[in-house]
Amino acid sequence: MRHLIDRLEKERRLEKEEWTALISAGADREYLFERADLARKKYYGRKVFTRGLIEFTNYCKNNCYYCGIRRDNRRVKRYRLTETEILDCCRQGYALGFRTFVLQGGEDGYFTDERLTRLIRTIKEGYPDCAVTLSVGEKPKESYLRFYEAGADRYLLRHETADETHYRRLHPGDMLLSRRKECLFWLREIGYQVGCGFMVGSPGQTAECLAEDMMFITKLDPQMVGIGPFIPHHETPFAQEPAGSVERTLYLIGLLRLLKPNLLIPATTALGTVDGQGRERGILAGANVVMPNLSPTGVRKQYELYDNKICTGDEAAECRSCLMRRMERIGFSIVTERGDPAGECRSL
Ligand code: SAH
Repeated sequence: MRHLIDRLEKERRLEKEEWTALISAGADREYLFERADLARKKYYGRKVFTRGLIEFTNYCKNNCYYCGIRRDNRRVKRYRLTETEILDCCRQGYALGFRTFVLQGGEDGYFTDERLTRLIRTIKEGYPDCAVTLSVGEKPKESYLRFYEAGADRYLLRHETADETHYRRLHPGDMLLSRRKECLFWLREIGYQVGCGFMVGSPGQTAECLAEDMMFITKLDPQMVGIGPFIPHHETPFAQEPAGSVERTLYLIGLLRLLKPNLLIPATTALGTVDGQGRERGILAGANVVMPNLSPTGVRKQYELYDNKICTGDEAAECRSCLMRRMERIGFSIVTERGDPAGECRSL
């Protein structure tokens, strides 16, 4: 598989059949990680960027079969943070060295465009040197535009799968892959730094599905791609399904690094949940971002997208210092920076 890895690095694209072959074989791992490490080093050295994740609402109108905060889960205690609570998270986060705040939540109608734009403005006024990232799902183009004008810099919207049949296996009929993709292209067009992504090993996912994901990512050309293993949640239709593979997730991180060397790739909490060393291994495979939680500890357990999510009991400061230690141990260091994508034209 070396020839495909080499060609990916050189041409930054592969045919769908080649992706499928590479991903199903999962071969030449050490070689891939070596190449990925070199590629990442050129742009980011040994730096790891952090994003302070604020999970500000777990109300959601959607019913995705995999997700623990889906509408039909009556067991989860729903919460919304107040504007004051959210600003408190930012204040704490700023003091700790975070220069990006990610506002993530379910699709919650309470947070109207007015409320969200006000929140974005307030955060940007208080912390003009910080990036604000939104992750609040599908919205009309006009709303994305308003958030951008209010100062939002980035938007995370995982496409979840680029394969139509697989998409139907993961979502109820009122959700559409075409709409999700359309949203991503709008976000790019408006000027956001955009992140898409998917779960690895979600029910029904094949190597062909993943090849389609790689083709879609090549076309969208996003600044960020977030991937993590699927992990079952006991109150969802997928409660009995097995979790996704760590090894495959790491392999895909390496491939993503070669597909786009300056890509921002998080070593996700899901990866850290299925493997105690998952985030370290993610970084070593080619990731360069970690996203510790800034949400108040009182609500952490209620934002349970999957079972056994880590760090739900720790204060923000503990999470940050724990990650700093983990990164130092593998020769990387967490920096106090916004962590924008490195320029394409930096000499190699
Ligand atoms: N409502 C927002 C945020 C979704 S939560 C949106 O639609 O973008 C962020 C991500 O968590 C999802 O995009 C999904 O990929 C991931 N996720 C949800 N349930 C999961 C599970 N059971 N295992 C692993 N990841 C999961």
